[in-house]
Amino acid sequence: MRLPKWLKRPLPQAGMQYTSDVIADLKLETVCESAKCPNRTECWSAKTATFMVLGNVCTRPCGFCSVPRGKTEVVQLDEPGRVAEAAARLGLKYVVITSVTRDDLPDGGANHFYECILAVRERTGAQVEVLTPDFKGNRAAISRVIEARPDVFNHNTETVPRLYHRVRRNAEYQRTLNLLAQIKEEAPDMLTKTGLMLGLGETRDELLEVLADLRAVNCDMLTLGQYLQPTPDMLPVERYVPPEEFDELGELARGLGFSMVASGPFVRSSYHAGEMAHVAGQA
Ligand code: SF4
Ligand code: SF4
Repeated sequence: MRLPKWLKRPLPQAGMQYTSDVIADLKLETVCESAKCPNRTECWSAKTATFMVLGNVCTRPCGFCSVPRGKTEVVQLDEPGRVAEAAARLGLKYVVITSVTRDDLPDGGANHFYECILAVRERTGAQVEVLTPDFKGNRAAISRVIEARPDVFNHNTETVPRLYHRVRRNAEYQRTLNLLAQIKEEAPDMLTKTGLMLGLGETRDELLEVLADLRAVNCDMLTLGQYLQPTPDMLPVERYVPPEEFDELGELARGLGFSMVASGPFVRSSYHAGEMAHVAGQA
């Protein structure tokens, strides 16, 4: 399918090389690169990136994601310090940390998230958003991340439940809702956030049902973006959703009570995350 004209991205600016050098120097991974995010030029030029901890190899086989699968890496105990150092060198006031899914670890990597949040906060005083896996629904693991008091706890829904087996194999829709609900049970003031990709074959009614389910667990923030096939062996794009439809869905979601909604072809979980959190925090 040919790319529609609205899917064009800006050229790199001066900050891009600096960001790239900091990340390489500190031997860090980013989801910007691993997931072939279409916003990398824009975000890295503005000296912002989303750090991906716990290695660059995932234990799950999602049909939409280009992060490598295979033998996982040993958890690097100095990684929280290196993430904090990168945040300091980039001058970040808002840091987003995500990870591959580590179903091979007893706590799914929850304690590593805890250490990363504390390290970044101590070193930089920045606000921290985490975008976590589902920890296989392990409530103790989820509590461990909550204990570190991230400013925003993000966990993606990705798509509608009917498509989970194809898009998000080994995940469960209800488990995602349970995770978001648990955060509000244990930390009612913590902002929760989730995101979905559109264009994978979902219907409008299915999407609206998901949005209602997310509001039923008091999810605060929502991102809706266009799915783009990162490599030819990944799931194909079923539909390019026009920008006007993203606008309309965004309005509809706001009407359902989300305190912050970003909806557009290039919106990703961590796109302009600091600005989103700022608006949501004031709502
Ligand atoms: Fe990285 Fe997020 Fe920007 Fe994409 S939107 S380049 S993942 S910071
Ligand atoms: Fe990619 Fe996350 Fe799925 Fe792993 S669990 S394949 S990192 S989307």
